[in-house]
Amino acid sequence: MKFGGTSLANAARMKNAARIIQRYSPQNKIVVVASAIGETTDQLIEISELAKKGDLQRARKLLSKIQAFHLKIARSVASKGETRELVSRLEQLNSELGRTVEGIAHLRELTPRSRDYLLSFGERLSAPILAATASAVGLKTRALTGAEVGIATDDNFGEATPLMEISYHQVQERLDPLWTRRTIPVVTGFIAATIDGSITTLGRGGSDYTATLLAAALGADEIWIWTDVNGLMTADPRIVKDAKVLQSVSFGEALELSYFGAKMMHPRALQPAAQKRTPVRIKNSSKPTRDGTLVSVKESPNGGRVVKAVSIIRDVGIVTVGGTGMMGAPGVAAKVFQSFGSNNVNVMMISQGSSEATISCVVARKDVDRGVRALQLALLGQGQVDKILGEKDACIIAVVGSGMKGTPGVAARVFGAVAKGGVNVRMVAQGSSEYNISLVVSEKDGPRAVKAIHEEFQLGKTSS
Ligand code: ADP
Ligand code: ASP
Ligand code: MG
Repeated sequence: MKFGGTSLANAARMKNAARIIQRYSPQNKIVVVASAIGETTDQLIEISELAKKGDLQRARKLLSKIQAFHLKIARSVASKGETRELVSRLEQLNSELGRTVEGIAHLRELTPRSRDYLLSFGERLSAPILAATASAVGLKTRALTGAEVGIATDDNFGEATPLMEISYHQVQERLDPLWTRRTIPVVTGFIAATIDGSITTLGRGGSDYTATLLAAALGADEIWIWTDVNGLMTADPRIVKDAKVLQSVSFGEALELSYFGAKMMHPRALQPAAQKRTPVRIKNSSKPTRDGTLVSVKESPNGGRVVKAVSIIRDVGIVTVGGTGMMGAPGVAAKVFQSFGSNNVNVMMISQGSSEATISCVVARKDVDRGVRALQLALLGQGQVDKILGEKDACIIAVVGSGMKGTPGVAARVFGAVAKGGVNVRMVAQGSSEYNISLVVSEKDGPRAVKAIHEEFQLGKTSS
């Protein structure tokens, strides 16, 4: 069971999470994964930026707000007997966190590694609080960090990749003895460590990934993701008011949706679950008896509708490589992807016109400048490529549904709807799985495009 930040956002929600664990614990062996409380990760990012600029005064102010907030929750959720121990553990973490911020401010240097170390405090503070809350309702619990539980990653700080075999082995070795003692492990989501012990993070929203990794390691029967909405919906309910909950989706569809749904689920989180065919349930922690959404190997019908959902991924940009010398010249695309890859720039979407005069790639907005520089170094001056451009105003709209496969006319309806909404489409791609059509529009047009497509396919009237 993984609890997202909103599901732990205050003392009442913490207690609610503990009651959920309690309710399912007698009949099940449970591993709990805790996200950082509420907006803590965002606040830590803000602190890191302030510290880097040397604005220690504002950094300290925000820092003490976080510290006080956690202590306040801790005091109201822990049992009398455990409050002292919990508070002293949090105070220790708080002072370590304080020293980290001072250090960054002093050097005015924020490396990907020190940033991960700083961000790790969100989950390192929340997991012991959730463990104590669950213990106050009578459960035997133990808080553990991702490193303590054995999740090892490479050293790509900020978006580290788990080393699966070793992690699986270590996780089994470390969690089995806890269960033998009927103790429920409460593990920090999002964070892990390199082999030599430096703290890494798995990328924003990474607690989902922690949950699916642990589940795969342990051969879990199911993964339950507790969040603040009733399940995976036909669109982001913040954009589309009449978005509906999807009862069931296949891994294929959920992969496309989560990859392109940005916040709903960590893009890589479904991989371990899909690989082990472990069903994932996405449920509302405020309404725990509702079914939520089941993600499984089953291809699920959608009341005859071809499109199941439409999602948006923001904070992306486009890197375009062009040159008349590219036409018919083999190997340019290979060089593009090679240099992106060796500079840790992840390509989310690609399109190449049949004239072969340009290749456009969508990457995270933060990677645009690095991507452009990498390609300039690798490709300019060799006679094939003569322009490399980066644009930062973009978002991807993904239209997903397994029923799209082999159904003619879906793309026409998508583009018709978007055009009627007055939105200019800048780039298009369809995965060969035919589970998705993705288009790129400028950031401000994103919500309008989502609404237009949702309306065109009448997704608000989905009955399944
Ligand atoms: P958590 O803190 O539980 O991890 P997130 O904020 O990461 O929660 O993700 C849940 C949020 O994702 C919802 O509150 C919702 O606004 C947003 N969201 C975006 N797209 C969707 C979608 N297709 N279905 C449901 N929620 C979505
Ligand atoms: N706390 C991390 C984040 O906000 C991880 C997570 O919540 O899944 O990105
Ligand atoms: Mg999340």
